[in-house]
Amino acid sequence: MRWGTIRKPSVAWRVTPNLVDYDAVCRSFTWDDARTALDGLPGGRGLNIAYEAVDRHVAAGNGDRVAVRWRGRHGAREEWTYAQLSERSDRFAGALRAMSVQAGERVFALLPRIPDLYVAALGTLKARCVFSPLFAAFGPQPIAQRLHIGQGRVLVTTESLYRRKVAGIRESVPDLTHVLISGTWSADPAAAGVQELETLLNAAPTEFEIEPTDPEDPALLHFTSGTTGTPKGAVHVHAAAVMHHHTGRYALDLHPGDVFWCTADPGWVTGTSYGIFAPLLHGITMVVDEGEFDADRWYGIIESERVSVWYTAPTAVRMLMKTGSDVALAHDLTSLRFVASVGEPLNPEGVLWGQEVLGLPIHDNWWQTETGGIMIANFAALDIQPGSMGRPLPGVEATVLLRDAHGRIAVHDGVVEPAPPGEEGELALRPGWPSMFRTYLGDEERYRDCFVGGWYRTGDLVRRGDDGYFWFVGRGDDVIKSAGHLIGPFEVESALMEHPAVAEAGVIGVPDPVAGEAVKAFVSLHRGYQPTDELRLELLGFARSRLGAAVAPKEIAFDPDLPMTKSGKIMRRVLKARELGLPVGDLSTLEETS
Ligand code: ATP
Ligand code: MG
Repeated sequence: MRWGTIRKPSVAWRVTPNLVDYDAVCRSFTWDDARTALDGLPGGRGLNIAYEAVDRHVAAGNGDRVAVRWRGRHGAREEWTYAQLSERSDRFAGALRAMSVQAGERVFALLPRIPDLYVAALGTLKARCVFSPLFAAFGPQPIAQRLHIGQGRVLVTTESLYRRKVAGIRESVPDLTHVLISGTWSADPAAAGVQELETLLNAAPTEFEIEPTDPEDPALLHFTSGTTGTPKGAVHVHAAAVMHHHTGRYALDLHPGDVFWCTADPGWVTGTSYGIFAPLLHGITMVVDEGEFDADRWYGIIESERVSVWYTAPTAVRMLMKTGSDVALAHDLTSLRFVASVGEPLNPEGVLWGQEVLGLPIHDNWWQTETGGIMIANFAALDIQPGSMGRPLPGVEATVLLRDAHGRIAVHDGVVEPAPPGEEGELALRPGWPSMFRTYLGDEERYRDCFVGGWYRTGDLVRRGDDGYFWFVGRGDDVIKSAGHLIGPFEVESALMEHPAVAEAGVIGVPDPVAGEAVKAFVSLHRGYQPTDELRLELLGFARSRLGAAVAPKEIAFDPDLPMTKSGKIMRRVLKARELGLPVGDLSTLEETS
């Protein structure tokens, strides 16, 4: 294999990883056991994510541990202990009750990564309302669309975001009765139910008793990234905490005393499951940075906060690679013990870059909004095959199902056929893990369509090796059928990115009279390279030498602004629609580059 294997057993552990004997742990694992890592509400009154994340640590006498180390955009710093977070979220829950917001009603947040975002999330859950975070960079339409689907009753935001993005859409979201402003609100205090959050919190009691919470009570409403179409609203329940804790332990290898940094915004599921809950469930310290990506800033945070476990995304890894290793080498990054990434395929180059520059390989893992937690991962103690997303978490049963030419999965007498090792098919998971979504809000039919023969269909195409490692091939809709071959865009993009000139690549199939579809690549270049015909020919030859003529692109276009989601995923459907002159569809999550 071109990239070899990164062997782990030879490594001297700084801390013994939580998962060393993978097979033994998988064999003996049960979800009931996993649940015993949590306390449950006092008096056997059920399971509430916020109690597990915050209050139980206070009850155990650890209230003065630092829960959140916050870094403001312009250098401000705050530290929040578990006790402080517990009290302020209690007040938030009390304020919701004082406004007669009922259990099950939806509380949205449209906030930068500031402490009140975390307070709102926890307080909402304590009140048994459903928390739905929105990415603060959304424009008015995506906000209205999501508030409408979720019938949002409460929105927590800032004055500036409210004025720019919400004031103009209030009429289209009649269910929204309360707008709570974090910071100051300078206008008419009575304007359309808009109030200062601080005033409400000050008036609320310092303690809030969480009512009995059924683990199946809805807790979170998360919208998918909109990479393949209109974002869907996935509903998760309080039992998801079991999965957040379990994956924090095994996939992120969290240990007491860790300083953990998840770079994702809570507007995406990674930023709540791992940017709020998993680290708090483990009672460790998490870093929150309000600022945007900047290589020097990020390395500086790892250095100054002594981050030990870091969870980021391939797009960030590629941006760091683009910046050059000298920026990294100017910082002391030796606090890092474990680094992981999610959201898109992590190119083998990225894994190895981590090893060279951070001194640690990057551990790719796979999951999606619908699964609520990490499903397939590279683990701290296990070998890495760069380019593979790893193996299923203990308790997660994953398979590969054969699809016909129309993407259908054949069912015979209710039974489906798994693909033999090495063959491509759709990744499917056996339902039953606790953070599985319970529906797409307002689209029960689409939810039902996700299941076949007792499996949940993920929509992603993968391959599984003899050794149980899974390899991402592409999204079901993105796979290119050319002259009888099925080509995953990731493989082609990865090969192109091995060329020193290529920063990012997006690959699609375009109609071809002979082959059915032909592979076309769009690439953006690293600084210092010019989009010349000569370079184009060089890249065509480079790809052919790596992939063979059947898989290599027939055409390459230079595009400095590849369409990406705000969470950094290449939107191939947009490339394709533009190429074919078709409607581009929902663009609510498109990152504006200008
Ligand atoms: P939408 O469902 O709205 O099109 P989306 O699928 O991008 O958007 P998310 O739930 O945020 O929304 O992303 C999950 C998807 O991201 C996965 O189904 C998969 O396609 C991709 N993904 C996540 N992690 C990985 C990974 N490690 N390797 C490859 N692909 C990944
Ligand atoms: Mg999806």
